[in-house]
Amino acid sequence: MGGRAAFVWRDDLVTYRPGPSHPLNPIRLEATADLLKTAGILTKGDVAGCRPCAVEDLLLVHDRRYIDAVRRWSARDEAALTSQERAEALAFGLGTADNPVFAGMHAAAALVAGASMAAADLVMTGQAQHAVSLAGGLHHALPDRAAGFCVYNDPAVAIAHLRYRYRARVAYVDIDAHHGDGVQWIFYEDPDVLTISIHESGHYLFPGTGHGHERGRGPGFGTSINIPLWPGTGDDSWIECFEAVVPRALRAFQPDVLISQHGCDAHRMDPLTHLAVSTRALARAAELLHQAAHELCEGRWIVLGGGGYDLLGVVPRAWTLLWAEVAGRPVDDELPEQWLARWKSKRPDIPKRLRDACGVPDGAEQKAATANRLMLERLLAELSLPV
Ligand SMILES: [Zn+2]
Ligand SMILES: [Zn+2]
Repeated sequence: MGGRAAFVWRDDLVTYRPGPSHPLNPIRLEATADLLKTAGILTKGDVAGCRPCAVEDLLLVHDRRYIDAVRRWSARDEAALTSQERAEALAFGLGTADNPVFAGMHAAAALVAGASMAAADLVMTGQAQHAVSLAGGLHHALPDRAAGFCVYNDPAVAIAHLRYRYRARVAYVDIDAHHGDGVQWIFYEDPDVLTISIHESGHYLFPGTGHGHERGRGPGFGTSINIPLWPGTGDDSWIECFEAVVPRALRAFQPDVLISQHGCDAHRMDPLTHLAVSTRALARAAELLHQAAHELCEGRWIVLGGGGYDLLGVVPRAWTLLWAEVAGRPVDDELPEQWLARWKSKRPDIPKRLRDACGVPDGAEQKAATANRLMLERLLAELSLPV
């Protein structure tokens, strides 16, 4: 699977940081880039630059009143807001524990969206066959409000750009442990955007949506697919559900371009979720998506990051396997000693290998697998996908 893969990056992408003790911490990106370089699979020639989105680009997805509010509060410190201002910010989802007002948030969020748009342009103009924007994947933001750590919805901005600029038919696949709700709702009525999300069931996890019956509306009916999983889901069941639905749904939809969100918070070590997969399942999903991009889209594949709150124990390993898959470069399973030495003061017990050891399924995992199989049977019957 040849073809150039681009890694969209500039150092100030780490300015998207909603506060010093907020779980979404850009150290995950720094440690990942460092691991990719130390492992020798990311070189200067792979890196492509980007610019912040213009307001016109954000307007493809977001309301002007919301963008204006984000810009207005960007110059402010949350502690300095009057109670009147605080109430106004709250109306836009800002000023909460999940989405605090932080200095420079408009510029930082517009840059993340610009990185994902740049990835889309690289792929659509043929400068790269695949392009990765690991700072991207902020899939919860809604047109008129911030949500779930996300200020601007960069996947949606990139998809809207693909639709309007390139007239492309777009398939979006989201493997983050949380439902990709923002992206789903934004394109809920669009027959030319397929969204598929595999996640921990909304009965147990934020944002509470992503149920099997959410299938799209009006002309978009049938172009939203959700695979809600039980807490405790391990590798085998996660992969079984992914494999049963995603490749077939993509084949039936026949997209021009594939865009995927690779939040790695479904990992069993993640502190915010209750799925129990390993880096193997996440890598298997990337492999299947890569195959689908070549089979259906002449290789056009845009790859985004997403959630991941075991910042050093999971994210760098998961996303190193991801980049190795995208770039088609073999990588040593053992983490380089120099990298471990650099980061161990912050996290002494980082697993030493990229691929986690296979565990023996416990009772919770078996129970989840049984429940997932029932969910899957119902879902497949409803979707009636061609085999
Ligand atoms: Zn390829
Ligand atoms: Zn997540």
